[in-house]
Amino acid sequence: MPRPKDNVALVCDIGELAGLFEKSAHIEDFLRNAASIVAYHMKAAVCSIYLYNEGERALVLTANQGLNPDAVGRVRLQPGEGLVGTVFSEQRPIREASAARNPRFKFVPGTNEERYEAFLAVPIIRGLSPVGVLVVQDPVPGYFDENDSRAMQTIAAQLASVIQNAKLLMNLRRQPPEAAAVAAPPGLRYVKGAPVSDGCAYGKATVLGVFEDQGQPGPFTADDFRRALARTEAQLADLQRAMEERLADVASMIFSAHLLMVKDSEFSGQMISLIEGGLSPQAAVAKVVGEYVRLFSSSPNARLREKVQDVRDLGRRLVQNLREGPESAPDYQGRILIAGELLASDIVKLAAQRAEGLLLIGGGITAHVSILARSLQLPAVVVEDRRFFGFPAGLPILIDGGQGVVLIDPGDEVLAKYRDLRAARGEAERFAVVGPEEAVTRDGVRVHVWANINILSEIDVARRMNVGGIGLYRSEFPFLVRNDFLAEEEQYRIYRKILDGMSGRPVVFRTLDIGGDKMLSEVPWVHEANPSLGLRGIRFSLQNKTTFMQQIRALLRAGAGADLRIMFPMVCSVEEFIGARDVVSECIRDLRTEDVPHHPDPKLGLMIEVPSAVEVAEELAAEADFLSIGSNDLVQYLLAVDRTNEHLSDLYLSHHPAVLRAMKRAADACLARGKPLSLCGEMAADPKMLPFVLGIGIRVLSVEVRQIPVLHKNIAGIRIEDAVRMAEGLLRMGRIQDIKTALGA
Ligand code: PEP
Ligand code: MG
Repeated sequence: MPRPKDNVALVCDIGELAGLFEKSAHIEDFLRNAASIVAYHMKAAVCSIYLYNEGERALVLTANQGLNPDAVGRVRLQPGEGLVGTVFSEQRPIREASAARNPRFKFVPGTNEERYEAFLAVPIIRGLSPVGVLVVQDPVPGYFDENDSRAMQTIAAQLASVIQNAKLLMNLRRQPPEAAAVAAPPGLRYVKGAPVSDGCAYGKATVLGVFEDQGQPGPFTADDFRRALARTEAQLADLQRAMEERLADVASMIFSAHLLMVKDSEFSGQMISLIEGGLSPQAAVAKVVGEYVRLFSSSPNARLREKVQDVRDLGRRLVQNLREGPESAPDYQGRILIAGELLASDIVKLAAQRAEGLLLIGGGITAHVSILARSLQLPAVVVEDRRFFGFPAGLPILIDGGQGVVLIDPGDEVLAKYRDLRAARGEAERFAVVGPEEAVTRDGVRVHVWANINILSEIDVARRMNVGGIGLYRSEFPFLVRNDFLAEEEQYRIYRKILDGMSGRPVVFRTLDIGGDKMLSEVPWVHEANPSLGLRGIRFSLQNKTTFMQQIRALLRAGAGADLRIMFPMVCSVEEFIGARDVVSECIRDLRTEDVPHHPDPKLGLMIEVPSAVEVAEELAAEADFLSIGSNDLVQYLLAVDRTNEHLSDLYLSHHPAVLRAMKRAADACLARGKPLSLCGEMAADPKMLPFVLGIGIRVLSVEVRQIPVLHKNIAGIRIEDAVRMAEGLLRMGRIQDIKTALGA
């Protein structure tokens, strides 16, 4: 005979949970008291709380009332395993009159569970993800009814936030077990992410942001520490010097924060006093680094917040130098770095420290950090799986940045294949033939294939490939990496090197395109609620005329005697283009008055990357000397899909009918006005889109340098007549799926 229950009372009186905090000595105690309350109100013999542990990928019995107390912390179930695991993975309640009759039931020995028949379990869900399972059991078969099930779901919902917080705190206190440090989370063997930066890389995993010191304390003294400090300083100075030579435009004083901290007597002084007070040098480094990280990350000053990664980096280097002899290289050599958000400067620093590759959690292929990784030839993959944040340090990973594949702890056979592939690629690069300046279609139509470059060092490669010109130089990269504005003189030197490097061939300099995902800290728009729709691109330049004029003057001066072309980003109206052109005219007048050598009449163009520019494309074409479609943004703004949001990558579709029709309108407008149109977004390198692009009349494609040889080959396989027919067919289609099928995508 079922006993009367007061579910409703429980739901109403859940306020008594607050009292539980006072009664509980610690978190585990709190959870056990919560289980007792639920058991009491449900009049059930047993109540259990299982919490999901991401590191172990298992549901752990964390609190219990009525079962063998020794089972707590011991019983573990995989998602999908047993009834509890099923409730978790399918996120639905399970109610059984007699649990053992359900084929999914899994008896856990040593719990005393065998005495209970009736079973009711509900998932504990936070947001959209389950965090655990709440279970009640009773010896009376059929004891729980539908009403109980509803009540338990309500209880689970009410408990969810408290339980999740308890879980977070418990995990914070718990040191990761040594053994877990070398095992991949179950099921995490092969992950398909997004290809971001081509190249295969193999190395030991290092999660950035986790201060990793796995070695034994070691018998180090304060003198050992001082030697490590000196070694660290010398290495950083060398690194900085090497960078000044290799990446002059973006790496100017890039390790200055590291160097200053090493020199800071507060920083190293604190470490020394701790060591002299009896702490091991490693513990002293970890303690001071931890304090600085806390200090920096909570600072209201954006500049200080950005230094968090630098401090950690420095701590790692110091400990490494303590452990290893003077000949060791405490760089990231042999490491695949796992990271969430990274700044442009971080990417440069990681590349400088010889990281093998990057596994980025979140972010899109067209995000500027991804673009920079490609420019630096740092293989990278973007994944969505946040479990990588808890990835065990030191476990080997293989990434294929061209395919977007991540292999965890690959076997010898896979590694051998990877080594062959790498060797073959190295050979291919060494013997890469110098291509022709222009590509030619099967029926003899010439197509200009130009290069997009972001950093100065890419000019060498572009030259080796004999490119006809630079179709897009993203001038914001030195600003982004430096996280600051560059003076006219500094800009002049960079621009001059680019133009000299191209020996008279055209170079399209795009003026500063900051804003959106390309932020500089400490500038007024940092607090914009919606940066992609904020003060971005030409809007910023027009509102900050001094900065704009410095850039235009630097360009005009560098462009004296060269084929200088200037292009404005994110233009929304004819007025914006004319406003920008007026600034150029003003700068030319000033330079003439000052008698400074300059380009007197550069070609001026604009990017078509917002829908409003498409609408007024004909009027814009009437004013400008050339136009260029920036498909990365055009797709983003036409479809209202954030280009950096990996969760929306399925909606970010270059072949959407709206995108095709917008491009066709822009192409027709340029044709009508006799103005050249190029395409410089990622779409230009997409072989599936190529016939369409050529079919609507675009004859200048600008792509990343390494994509050039393949693009030449793809162009050579196309007949313009077929491409035109295909484009016409696609433009008649109104459905994404039809276009996708027609493209064979
Ligand atoms: C584009 O938007 O397509 C483009 C080339 O510019 P960026 O990727 O720098 O925004
Ligand atoms: Mg753009």
